[in-house]
Amino acid sequence: MLSSDNDSHDQSTTSSDSESLKHRTATAPFDDSNAEIILRSSDNVDFHVHRLILSLASPVFETMFTLPQGNTDSPLVQMSEDSSTVDILLRYCYPTDVPEISDLGLLKKVMEAAMKFDMPDILKQARKQLLNFVEKEPLSIFALAAHYKWREGAKRAAKECLAFNLIGTHVDELNLISASNYHRLLEYHQRCGRAASKLTLLNEMGNADQLYSLSTRNCWIFCNNEKCPSRHVSGLKASDGKNRYMKEWFFLYLDAVRNILKDRPAVKLITPMALRVAAMKKAGECYVCRPRAAFDLDSFIIGPFSEEIEKAIDKIQLELEF
Ligand SMILES: [Zn+2]
Repeated sequence: MLSSDNDSHDQSTTSSDSESLKHRTATAPFDDSNAEIILRSSDNVDFHVHRLILSLASPVFETMFTLPQGNTDSPLVQMSEDSSTVDILLRYCYPTDVPEISDLGLLKKVMEAAMKFDMPDILKQARKQLLNFVEKEPLSIFALAAHYKWREGAKRAAKECLAFNLIGTHVDELNLISASNYHRLLEYHQRCGRAASKLTLLNEMGNADQLYSLSTRNCWIFCNNEKCPSRHVSGLKASDGKNRYMKEWFFLYLDAVRNILKDRPAVKLITPMALRVAAMKKAGECYVCRPRAAFDLDSFIIGPFSEEIEKAIDKIQLELEF
């Protein structure tokens, strides 16, 4: 906990060499000998800081500094936070650049300290750095964003969670949020999974022309080899009123994608080559399909198919309780 400790300060300035080795001075700009206050971190680093800056940044510090400080002009404040945390927190207070935080544990400590010292504006600044971790640790970031009541961050993290199977995944940060908000995340995830995987089912397609590029000459529709070993198996009506029948090898790809999207509805998961292997192998049996299948399928995946999946997911709303 926070405490003002003038005795320790007196001791530190008059101590023996072995005593002074126990703590060291922070790097610039927190090494200013003209500063009125010393914040000593839990790992014994002394931050020389200006009273006015701390008072403006935090009502907790402001109140502390209005209390009688004894007979010294340079009170020492013992902090329970470590030096890395104090350093970042102070950089948010000072007119200086704040480094990008690459350690989520450190960012969590900075945010906790900002809460403790009642620094809402700094908390808002710091929480933006949660997005540095959103791709690798989306569930943790969702929970932290919800904990700090940051809707935009929570929604961004929820979308990143789509690339992961949430069932069976636990992170400690879940302890910070309500069961209701976690339930809403799971529900959002499931609804996105249903909406995205539906796009792989032809009879569910509203806009077949656009999604399956029925008017362009994709080889899975327009292979004219009568001896093509891959049959035309299912038809869709194009906008010109005519039916287009599609090669069964194309459905091998759609089946593989459906299996992914129902549990992990993320566009970035539909591109790996592994999902196309069965389709390419079958297409390779036909001299018309073979030279074009990879290019046509690739154009389809990174073009209209990805766009439609994104649109379907973006229509799903995540309602949060804060
Ligand atoms: Zn063919």
